[in-house]
Amino acid sequence: MSLTELHDEPEFLTVAIEEDVLDTLAPAIPAADVDDLRSSVHGPVYAAGDDGMAAEVATWNVAVQHTPAIAVGATCAADVQAAVSWAVAHDLKVAVQATGHGPVRNAAGSLMITTRRMQGVAIDPDRRIARVQAGVKWHRLLEAAAEYGLAGLCGSSSDVGVVGYSLGGGLGSLGRKHGFAADHITAVEVVTADGRLRRATADSEPELFWAARGGKGNLGIVTALEIELVPVGSLYGGGIFFAGADAAAVLHAFREWAPTLPEEVSTSVAIIRMPPMEELPPPLRGQTVVHLRYAYSGTDFEEGERLLAPMNATGSILLGFVGPILTTEMDSIHMDPVDPLPAWEKGMLLAELSADTVDTLLAVGGPQLEIPLIMVEIRLMGGALARQPEVPNAVAGRNGAYSLLVLGPGIPELAQVVPAVGKGVLGALMPWAAPGVLTNFLGDVTGPDEVLNAWPADAQRRLKDLKRMIDPAGIFSFGHAF
Ligand SMILES: Cc1cc2nc3c(=O)[nH]c(=O)nc-3n(C[C@H](O)[C@H](O)[C@H](O)COP(=O)(O)OP(=O)(O)OC[C@H]3O[C@@H](n4cnc5c(N)ncnc54)[C@H](O)[C@@H]3O)c2cc1C
Repeated sequence: MSLTELHDEPEFLTVAIEEDVLDTLAPAIPAADVDDLRSSVHGPVYAAGDDGMAAEVATWNVAVQHTPAIAVGATCAADVQAAVSWAVAHDLKVAVQATGHGPVRNAAGSLMITTRRMQGVAIDPDRRIARVQAGVKWHRLLEAAAEYGLAGLCGSSSDVGVVGYSLGGGLGSLGRKHGFAADHITAVEVVTADGRLRRATADSEPELFWAARGGKGNLGIVTALEIELVPVGSLYGGGIFFAGADAAAVLHAFREWAPTLPEEVSTSVAIIRMPPMEELPPPLRGQTVVHLRYAYSGTDFEEGERLLAPMNATGSILLGFVGPILTTEMDSIHMDPVDPLPAWEKGMLLAELSADTVDTLLAVGGPQLEIPLIMVEIRLMGGALARQPEVPNAVAGRNGAYSLLVLGPGIPELAQVVPAVGKGVLGALMPWAAPGVLTNFLGDVTGPDEVLNAWPADAQRRLKDLKRMIDPAGIFSFGHAF
């Protein structure tokens, strides 16, 4: 074949192929078609191999690296519609990423829509409603809402995306008083597999409205949410780091104390193996510690202080601050890492936290063990988290008494060990398991069936029926997909 003949051939792009995801193999795409896509969206379009592709799809949890065939940096709902329609026409599955805090597996060979350019936030203080576009992180919404003495139901880190977090339920520091973040969604604007931009509310598209609030990214690409805000400007909150040697005393005190708390208090406790990083204060650096997190969202801060008091003397305190904080300072409760890191995680629900549960947890995950788990965390649930909102939704795991999450380094050297140890901890706690899992804490899953099992059987049927109807070809099959 001569050079001229070669040039006469249509130009084809190389599609990145991952060995472990052969099912996501994409067909070769003519470059002219990619140019068509470029001219039909406002944001940038990258094809596999283009400079800028890696940065466009970079994750926060760097344990997963995405290698899509095409990435579209959406700037608006119309870009999302164009990208979805183009993907369907080219037989590509569609993935979405806002912040990269929750990748599940490489979206290899997909068309990935990145939403971080969609930064619109508008607050209607009279109706206490925020409208947020798909790329907005929690800190931006918290800051905008705080201007009016309002807050959204942020989780442990305000660096997480509002949309991904809320679609997965969203368990945060105001949760026991106000429920899941998803319980406060009043409208979902979503592009479905047919390329339509739908607005789902309690009145229009009620089944989609039910499913999207908890069903995560399974039904389409959400371009914006409307969210009811709560009238909270400040809280009494923070965290206390106890010495790891006192883990048994602190955890046993926690299990007796936590169920006595009113709904105004959300709390959690975690065994954390701190890395030996210079950035960490000396009392914590390289230490295994027990971190108690506390958030009282009532108005009487003296009451908040009094309710916490029984925990103060349960162990030797290495470091800690609990006091009045603004809602924009809620990150100080959990003190999650901010910089990207490789993480492996998996969660389950507990129906109770008895003395035996705590002893078992300590035996398999306690500070005395040299195991590669960065964190073993127990969050108190109950209160408003256990109640359906006025318009019921598909949030999974509502009836757990506690959430348990294990997290370890997601690095190739420990690719076998960390999941084995993490699953071992969860396995040992199975006698106290409650049905279901919080979708946001599903972590490592074996496949769609395990994802679906997060929900009770009737909700599974409803979700599957809707998915079959609006995404019959299963084009939204990344993330925690069923
Ligand atoms: C440090 C840290 C702290 C966390 N704390 C909490 C917590 O306290 N409570 C809690 O409930 N969860 C928590 N999470 C889990 C977090 O809520 C999920 O990982 C969530 O999916 C992150 O969403 P994202 O958009 O930021 O991440 P991304 O990785 O960008 O997206 C993850 C998934 O969200 C879905 N998604 C994102 N955008 C869209 C969209 N526009 N349309 C449809 N689907 C979309 C998709 O399924 C996507 O695969 C935490 C995670 C981290 C890393």
